[in-house]
Amino acid sequence: MNIVFAASECVPFSKTGGLADVAGALSQALAGLGHKVSVYLPKYKQTGIADGKVLLRSVTVPFDDQYRFCSVIDGGRRSGVQFYFIDYPAFFDRDAFYGTPAGDYPDNAERFALYSRAVLEAAKILGPPEIFHCHDWQSALVPVLLRTSYADDPVLQNAATVFTIHNMGYQGIFPPDTLPLLMLPWDLFSLDKMEFWGKVNFLKGALVFSDHITVVSRRYAQEVQTAEYGFGLDGVLRKRAGTVTGILNGVDYNEWNPEKDRLIVRQYSAENLAGKKECKYDLLRQFGIENAKNAELPVIGMITRFAAQKGIDLIAEIADDLARLPMIFTILGSGDKVYQDLFIKLGREHPGKFAVKVAYDNALAHKIEAGADMFLMPSRYEPSGLNQMYSMRYGTVPIVRATGGLDDSVDPWDPATGKGTGFKFTPYSGAVLLATITEALKAFQDEPNWKKMMLNGMKKDFSWTASAKEYVKIYERLVPQKPGPPAEKVVEFSRA
Ligand code: ADP
Repeated sequence: MNIVFAASECVPFSKTGGLADVAGALSQALAGLGHKVSVYLPKYKQTGIADGKVLLRSVTVPFDDQYRFCSVIDGGRRSGVQFYFIDYPAFFDRDAFYGTPAGDYPDNAERFALYSRAVLEAAKILGPPEIFHCHDWQSALVPVLLRTSYADDPVLQNAATVFTIHNMGYQGIFPPDTLPLLMLPWDLFSLDKMEFWGKVNFLKGALVFSDHITVVSRRYAQEVQTAEYGFGLDGVLRKRAGTVTGILNGVDYNEWNPEKDRLIVRQYSAENLAGKKECKYDLLRQFGIENAKNAELPVIGMITRFAAQKGIDLIAEIADDLARLPMIFTILGSGDKVYQDLFIKLGREHPGKFAVKVAYDNALAHKIEAGADMFLMPSRYEPSGLNQMYSMRYGTVPIVRATGGLDDSVDPWDPATGKGTGFKFTPYSGAVLLATITEALKAFQDEPNWKKMMLNGMKKDFSWTASAKEYVKIYERLVPQKPGPPAEKVVEFSRA
């Protein structure tokens, strides 16, 4: 099958979060199953393919009754996957992908509309697919355009669309006059299409027009159909419940595996855990707090985007209590300034207890996974979550809130049966989080049982192949006879 991925980030070229890991690993797993996969990405300043060959010099994108022209660059093949980059420096040659800690770039609608149209135009020439698989709001206009402006396009009209929700919290919501600027038909501005409380919602468009919707864990697929987690789009998803599937993300064990991880000081395995102690000492050294006493204390790790979703307010609520517990908390994160400031403050108030680094640092992320004893993810919501799965492979016991993919992937520890891989709590409350961490710290004292729990996690297999096969089943259902909403007629564009 011929599949085009449209995603705004993808490892190893660009990454701010799990979407990039998924786009990279899933495309590779699909290619490994024998499919032809191309990934289309924006060419950011940070992308690092300066010498890529220009394949298409001038792709035309209509905008505000005029035109913009971008080019498409060959990103080469990696592990059987072909990469293409949409090059438009005015939009993508910036210090960040989506915005600064102060907020989103004001022209994000234009940036990702240009990207989405360019993907369609380029795919027409470089190889029209049977499936466009789009990810998150940045590529949400691909299915919208296919069923509106491109509905009669002789090359693309038979392509099916799969849309994956990686996070309902980011929808791409813009003022209504965005539609005419992007030369999209006004009739999209209705309650059953893209209108959302008087604004235009890109994600909603994708949920209405895609042939199939996937969500990155089974639990999150249920959650997003409720008012609590649906961010206002739960009703849209409930209407399409028959075409919504939850598929848990996988782990790229070429990247995240303590047996061959080159970013950690000493490799180790379930059979020989000796190296993990060295990794712990090295982690303490990274934060400048290495000494024999600290090496005996349990270390809790956290690697996170600083965003409201990640449960940071719960940590703030119990910070003073945490500081009194016999443990060290190492935190690596970047993102919203309010949380950056909060952690910097905690680090200052409790030196040696809260060891904080505000940065995006992949090498340190690996060192935390390997060096910590426990890994904390108290998320308010977590569509899939990857770090808890990485943690298990590194023998680092996850402490998670039972939501989304965290709930799907972590089994609660039961000392009576010796089964389970971590600690889970449900109510979103600081007190319950504190009780759960206290319970984990107590369990840590029981060395043989703790080791059993570590090994239970290390044996878990979250590799991508199983999940990739579930995606293929969906593609195969769509390709022979394409269901989904009927094609829309293009309605005359007007400024209204
Ligand atoms: P999300 O996609 O919501 O950010 P996930 O757990 O699905 O959360 O994926 C996060 C990914 O990003 C993981 O690979 C994690 O290691 C990485 N990551 C997040 N923040 C940082 C950071 N500050 N430095 C390095 N890696 C980070």
